[in-house]
Parts: sequence; structure tokens; C-alpha cells
Amino acid sequence: MTAAPLSFGAFDGIDLFMPSNALPVAFVDDPVFDRHRSRGHHPERPERLQAVRAALGRAQIELIPVAARDAEDEELLRVHEAAYLDDLTRMTGREGHLDADTYIAADSITAARRAAGSACSLVDAILEGRARRGVALLRPPGHHARPDQAMGFCLLNNIAIAAAHARARGIRRLAIVDWDVHHGNGTQEMFWEDPSVLYVSVHQSPCFPGTGDASEVGDGEGLGATVNVPLSAGAGDAEYAAAFERVIVPVLDAFRPELVLVSAGFDAHRNDPIAGMRLDPGSFARMTRYLLDVAERHASGRMALLLEGGYDLSGLEASFLASLRTLAGEPLSLPAPGIPGALFAREIERARRFASAHWPGLG
Ligand code: ZN
Repeated sequence: MTAAPLSFGAFDGIDLFMPSNALPVAFVDDPVFDRHRSRGHHPERPERLQAVRAALGRAQIELIPVAARDAEDEELLRVHEAAYLDDLTRMTGREGHLDADTYIAADSITAARRAAGSACSLVDAILEGRARRGVALLRPPGHHARPDQAMGFCLLNNIAIAAAHARARGIRRLAIVDWDVHHGNGTQEMFWEDPSVLYVSVHQSPCFPGTGDASEVGDGEGLGATVNVPLSAGAGDAEYAAAFERVIVPVLDAFRPELVLVSAGFDAHRNDPIAGMRLDPGSFARMTRYLLDVAERHASGRMALLLEGGYDLSGLEASFLASLRTLAGEPLSLPAPGIPGALFAREIERARRFASAHWPGLG
């Protein structure tokens, strides 16, 4: 009998070994995020952030607090349209729905500005050398927010605002890797023609919001700087690992980002109530490890996770914890990934073909 491979479900109640060269992780959070709350039940709820805070408390790593702040108009206007920001400002203090999915409470616009500014604040901490790795606890999430429209629980596009901020501070090439189970249509749209920001997404398809086919590769000067890996429902650790090894990591290595930002949604977890993927917490640790290695090779190790989705509270907590500890330097203790199923392998090879037209190194 051989021992079963260590499952990351075993995180619960076990003090895992942390290496002596563990790195501190900067984090940003703010109580105003909890005041973004729907009157009725809504999956995007304050308890999500409480789950993530519980993971921070359990991580047993050195954490460096970064002060939250509001985003400046100038920072928002890099990716959002002025008329939309005026609309949001006018809605401050009101309650209602901006679309079928997206609610606002009295403090939601305040929370959204604080979330976007806090993402910038974390980027500042990393660019100023206060930490090389960071996590941003943010609500509302951001990656569906379009230049002129709230969408999919999102009001302001936190990661796009943070990316544009890093660019304004002198970062020449920046990668946004989006492993949220949904495609980050808003982020893709904002950098569609921008060769300096590589947008890479792995997501469930078909699924909300309906964008993110592998044929969507950017346009103009940004042709090739958008890379999509859509996967059918049911993808698990083997499929995500193959997506990273066959497409995402090779493209990142060819692009050589100076900073890696992650749209870190945890709704590809197997228990998530609004999606159909089959990841365990260890898969999120594995994805974090792939990206940390990219950041070490090209970006002086500079990498930050910005919270997006994730609606099963215990799955969110465990997955965030696994990512956080990996970010702090904990080695992976996972078996090698399995072989992807045939359907998924075809989907990954199709994505690789589209990417390889613009990244010749992929072959
Ligand atoms: Zn999502």
C-alpha cells in the first residue's frame, strides 16, 4: 500500500512547515468593504471577506499591513469613462440594482472607490520595495466592470485601475492573470489594444459573461496581448495545470512582465454554488506557484493577488489560505498533476494555437 498523496484539505488544523526563507506578504483591507451589502441574499456578501480574513489569521506568515485609501479621479479615469464615474458619484448613498446581478447599498460607491484605491496602495507598497508579494482583500470585486458600465457584481475595475497605476509609475510591461472562473470581460476590454498589459484568463465556458473565446486575442498594437483559455465545466487540477504549462506560463515567459497581478477569484473551487469547475485548494496553491516562478524569473518576484469572486465560504477560505502560504514561500506538497481529459486537452491546444500565432516561442 502506498500512502495517499497529501491533500490540501489537510490544511485544516495542521501546522505546516514554513521554510526559514519565507517572505513577508503585504496585505490591504478596510472595514468599509463590509458595508457593501445587499438587502436580500446575494452571493457577493460581506461574509466572503470574513472568510478571507480568517485565512489571513490562520496563515502563520509575516504580514505587512498596507493602508487602504480612496482612488483618485485621475486613477479611475485611466480605465473608466468620466460620464460613468459621474453617474456612480450621483448614486452615492442610494440603494438599488444597476443590473439584474449588481446591487448598490448606501456605502457601495464609497467601498468601490476604497477598493480601487487600496489596489493602487498595494501596488505602491510593492513598487516602493516595502514587500515583494501582496494580497488585496477587496469588495466589491472588479473584473467585469467595463469602462462605462457596472456588471457582474462589479462597480469599478480594481485590477485594471491598479495595472494602469503601475504603468503610470513606470512599469513597462505588466501581466494580469485572471483565474476567476468567469472571464474578466471588463479588464480585457480596457487593455484590448494595449501591448504593455498582457491579459491572460483561464475560465469556464460557456458561462457568464459569455466572452473570452480563445479567438479573442486583442487588436491593433495590443494584438496578441490578450490570451484566453476557455474550458468546459468540470475542469479540475489536471486541466488547470495543463493550461498553465501549455499556454499561460510560456506566454508569460515570452512577455517578461515586470509585475504580475492576479485577478484571484476562488469560484473555480469544486463547491462553488455559481460555477461548475472542480478545483481544490491545492490547485490554487499550484497556480500561485506557477506565477511566483514567472515573477521570480522576470519581475524581481513582484506579484499580488487581488480578490475577485469565490462564493463557497469554506472553499474560499481554504483556497485563499493555500494561495497565501504559497505566496509566502511554502513549497508545494502536491502530487504531480494528472493528465487532462480529452475534451479539455483539445480546448487547451486550441488556445495554444491562437496564442502561438503571436508568441512564436510556443511553437
Ligand atoms: Zn467569478
